[in-house]
Amino acid sequence: MSDGKNEKSRPRQTKGEGRNPHALETDLVHGGSIRSQFGETSEAMFLTSGFIYDRAEQAEARFEGEDHGYVYSRYANPTVEMFEKRMCLIEGAEAARATASGMAAVSGALLALLSAGDHLVASRALFGSCRYIVEDLAPRFGIESTLIDGRDLDAWKNAVQPNTKAFFFESPTNPTLELVDIQAVSDIAHENGAKVVIDNVFATPLLQSPLERGADIVAYSATKHIDGQGRCMGGVVLGDEAFIMDDLFNYLKHTGPAMSPFNAWVMLNGLETLKLRVEKSSETAAAIADFLGSHSGISRVIYPMRPDHPQYELACTQMSSGSTMVSFELPGSKSDAFAFQNKLNIVSISNNLGDSKSLVTHPATTTHQRIGAKARAELGISDTLLRLSVGLEDISDLCADIDQALNKARIG
Ligand SMILES: *Cc1c(COP(=O)(O)O)cnc(C)c1O
Repeated sequence: MSDGKNEKSRPRQTKGEGRNPHALETDLVHGGSIRSQFGETSEAMFLTSGFIYDRAEQAEARFEGEDHGYVYSRYANPTVEMFEKRMCLIEGAEAARATASGMAAVSGALLALLSAGDHLVASRALFGSCRYIVEDLAPRFGIESTLIDGRDLDAWKNAVQPNTKAFFFESPTNPTLELVDIQAVSDIAHENGAKVVIDNVFATPLLQSPLERGADIVAYSATKHIDGQGRCMGGVVLGDEAFIMDDLFNYLKHTGPAMSPFNAWVMLNGLETLKLRVEKSSETAAAIADFLGSHSGISRVIYPMRPDHPQYELACTQMSSGSTMVSFELPGSKSDAFAFQNKLNIVSISNNLGDSKSLVTHPATTTHQRIGAKARAELGISDTLLRLSVGLEDISDLCADIDQALNKARIG
């Protein structure tokens, strides 16, 4: 049901470089490439921890920042830098830093931004580890936090305190695919002098442009759609040059969650096919959502681009398609949900997502097990809710697999 009417616009002005002249498809393949003297076609993988200086004077100049060049791969590495530059072009951001994982990106963004005495407001529908950072870790370092219902604009307004310095959320949320109005929430943050940090993993850089809707900092787990083939861990934070190259760079370079050059090389190759993969999987996800919606064995389907989604209009405003994720509920109990999962042949049981292989997750017993029954009830995560990450398999094969599993599990 993705109608594609809200085509993602091209990246914003990049500081100092003028308008990016290339189309998204071209940047996904060529953006940020640095070619060595050997003229390689594929980006070179610079597996080196250190760099050599011609003379002692050059080493001194480089540490003083007068001679531009690489120092140490915890600070910067050519392959990692190609990935960062390509991400900047795709996101339309001034600057980016890559990290070892998505959680290194989220924790780095928040800890580089906040200090003891600051207050953070976050949507309570967060990825499990993000909730740990907001609820458990940040308070240990004197950062106060308030969790709210991210769909409710008044809740954001009412949570603001004089020391509120950041708003943090994801949209669509995991696993109930609720949306947060990025523009409206960013406006509230800015009226109150706070910055907006968004975890944009579910939408990917292609289906939603948070910076154009007022967000200040965007974080990704590159482990998901950016790699897209379940191989490597990685993350990236994008935003304005002052924050990324000063606050975040210092935080990352001295605490050490650097992306490995090997992983950066895999991610660069992942980006080359990102658009083809995300478009195809989203198209299939929309078709599967409709298939599930008309299936007697399913009690509820959640997909942002279906008119029965409570925030369908917001989805059409801020997303260009409904994403590669579909959630749904079965009638019955946890054992019915387990029976259904166990009967699937093509779709695998996994807590991962954004892979070319379709994956199914039972959030209540895996990704959201730690938060407890009360918090799950608040988030609408029932014992029969399932989350499907749609891959690149054939649509009819996937629908047939789901159908036979529902029948064998004697649901519907
Ligand atoms: C996976 C994920 C993360 C964490 O990323 P890792 O690469 O696993 O560290 C953060 N937020 C969301 C929404 C995710 O799906």
